[in-house]
Amino acid sequence: MSREVRTLVVALAGNPNSGKTTIFNNLTGASQHVGNYPGVTVEKKEGTVKTGKYKIKFVDLPGTYSLSAYSIEEIIARNFIIQQKPDVVIDIVDASNLERNLYLTTQIVELGIPIIIALNMADMTKSRGIDIDDSLLSQLLGLKVVPTVGNKNTGMDRLLDTIIEVIESESPVTPATVNYGKEFEAELSRISRIVSKDESVIEGYRPRWIALKLLENDAEVGKLVARHRYVNDLVDAAMKGGERIESLYGDTVSSIISDRRYGFISGACSEAIRMTGGKRHDMSDKIDSALIHPIFGLPIFAVMMWLMFHLTFTLGEKPMEWIEKGVIFLSQFLSSAMPEGLLRSLIVDGMIAGVGGVISFLPNIMLLFLAIAVLEDTGYMARAAFVMDRIMHRIGLHGKSFIPMLIGFGCTVPAYMSSRILEDKTDRLVTMHVSTFMSCGARLPVYILVCGAFWPDNAGTVIFSIYALGVVTAIVSVKLLRSTRFKGMSSPFIMELPPYRVPTMRSLVIHMWERSWLYIRKAGTIILGVSIIMWFIMTFPQKTDFDKDYDGLIQSAETAAESSAATFAETQSLVSKYKAERSAERMEYSVAGRIGKLIEPVISPLGFDWRLGVAIFSGFAAKEVVVSTMGTVYGVSESGEESRSLRQRLAEDPKYSKLIAYAFVVFVLLYMPCMAALAVFLRESGSWKELLFQISYTFVLAWSMAFIVYQGGRLIGLG
Ligand code: GDP
Ligand code: MG
Repeated sequence: MSREVRTLVVALAGNPNSGKTTIFNNLTGASQHVGNYPGVTVEKKEGTVKTGKYKIKFVDLPGTYSLSAYSIEEIIARNFIIQQKPDVVIDIVDASNLERNLYLTTQIVELGIPIIIALNMADMTKSRGIDIDDSLLSQLLGLKVVPTVGNKNTGMDRLLDTIIEVIESESPVTPATVNYGKEFEAELSRISRIVSKDESVIEGYRPRWIALKLLENDAEVGKLVARHRYVNDLVDAAMKGGERIESLYGDTVSSIISDRRYGFISGACSEAIRMTGGKRHDMSDKIDSALIHPIFGLPIFAVMMWLMFHLTFTLGEKPMEWIEKGVIFLSQFLSSAMPEGLLRSLIVDGMIAGVGGVISFLPNIMLLFLAIAVLEDTGYMARAAFVMDRIMHRIGLHGKSFIPMLIGFGCTVPAYMSSRILEDKTDRLVTMHVSTFMSCGARLPVYILVCGAFWPDNAGTVIFSIYALGVVTAIVSVKLLRSTRFKGMSSPFIMELPPYRVPTMRSLVIHMWERSWLYIRKAGTIILGVSIIMWFIMTFPQKTDFDKDYDGLIQSAETAAESSAATFAETQSLVSKYKAERSAERMEYSVAGRIGKLIEPVISPLGFDWRLGVAIFSGFAAKEVVVSTMGTVYGVSESGEESRSLRQRLAEDPKYSKLIAYAFVVFVLLYMPCMAALAVFLRESGSWKELLFQISYTFVLAWSMAFIVYQGGRLIGLG
């Protein structure tokens, strides 16, 4: 029996003049066969060589810049790859023109065939002042990259070895693919699902690729799916999907696709290429040279963030006051319309104080989400991610980690879920452990309430400092976790740099509204529910035998007021003092009061009293509840008769100071994520041990930082 020889087919693809034919000649030597592709006058070159146990048939594909169906060359190249299914495609890339050449690469990758990059013209780059880190590029793209110089016949052995390596490798490689954006990807998977329903037609094609081509209106693929069992559904889905995408992004599908691809490439190249003496060209590049600058990038990001919080607070101030006034009006109206009693207290001090407190921050929330939508849609957020990625990677976290972390600014739940994009389990866990420090939208109302009360003139700046502290804590935590519980480094990843664009109004409004609606819905459901529960535990058990005879004292003060007009104001204040004392005593007797008293020893070193303790405790349900509970605490204790907003009440409370206020927001920033987030944490990590670690880590950190702020502040005489 003769030794088994396996025949491999290897296709050479690349842009015209990238050196394909030169490399093909190097590889195949004299054993060439020249013919035509069937039916067309495009030259087809084939050559076979034998190495070890393999016979390799090389095919020189026509040179193309793209794999759309605009030219016969493009159709031949892509049909060959799809239908003949070569074992490997070697993508010959002109290294001196990397960005343009990689455009084809992104498309070959989408066909799902193993691919190797020959980084050709490696000699030209040096002379042009370009320095390409090929091993980084290889890591970023998730592909093997072999530097070659075609006309000097160098790199060919390594190219052959790499082919064998790829063939013999057990684990399938997963190259990096372009992400076309959330809504776009949603359409792609919708269409792919229909495509997959009829296997007979799509044999050999990836459903996602077909979906993409249908959205792109590719004539060839249109012909292909004509035989599909659900062709009508497909055409319909593609048309509607295309319309949705175009109205949302305000651009044609094909230019969104090419923008995204160039964004992906631009991200990879910005990482892997160092220009030693080169010039960068178009507008996006020029802006990028400032915004993703190695030194200025981060300060610019910080200024952007500061601006965002500053605007969120200052522009939101007025509408917030209107809503606050509305809430006060409503509770005063109900107070006078309803007879005094438990029901009135439940509605006014429990429900309205709780939900109203949270709803008054809706304008700020909407502004914040609008600002985030603007930053995302213009393309700046991608730059921020790029800048952060460099830092992330330096400290040992996968660059992709910053995506969950950015999402964490909105809500920790999707942040945890999106950590799935990280393949490595350790990366995923570290990312999840720290994403909670990226202050979520639900915590913003707490900051606005507290900072607005204590720093009415520069609340925006103080809030910014809290967010910045969160980011710094996340970064320091990564470093800490990476050098203790989760040792190791991780691989880099492409941060896409899409071109800058003017966002469409429609997309901004949709993005803002989606998130704001979640906030409103939460206020009407979870927060309402928790407010009612909090009211109950703040009201019961009811105390009847007070230390003083308040009823008697109040009555005699009131009669005194009636008999003498001169002492009216005096006795009025006496009355409210008694009432406040009485309700404070009542509240301390209640379940909430007892819980507060129970945790008071733990939090008193931070300057917090038991009322803040109850607020923190209730924030476990959802972070906004910290605000609604404070509303209820003060509502119950002052029985809704006064026309002061919660902010005023806080600011005027002699028990609190700026120092306590800051320690409190620091605590709220860092302490454990809410119930919903923890449930998702458990599901995503699949480990009770990690959950317990997350809870204790965040708690210990929150406590220590608040302690440092409060005690440190007192030490240097701040309060
Ligand atoms: P194709 O269009 O992709 O088939 O490209 P060719 O193989 O015909 O090469 C185009 C030109 O580039 C030829 O003049 C080659 O000699 C030259 N060339 C190929 N590889 C290299 C390389 O690595 N460095 C340099 N400087 N020139 C190369
Ligand atoms: Mg050629």
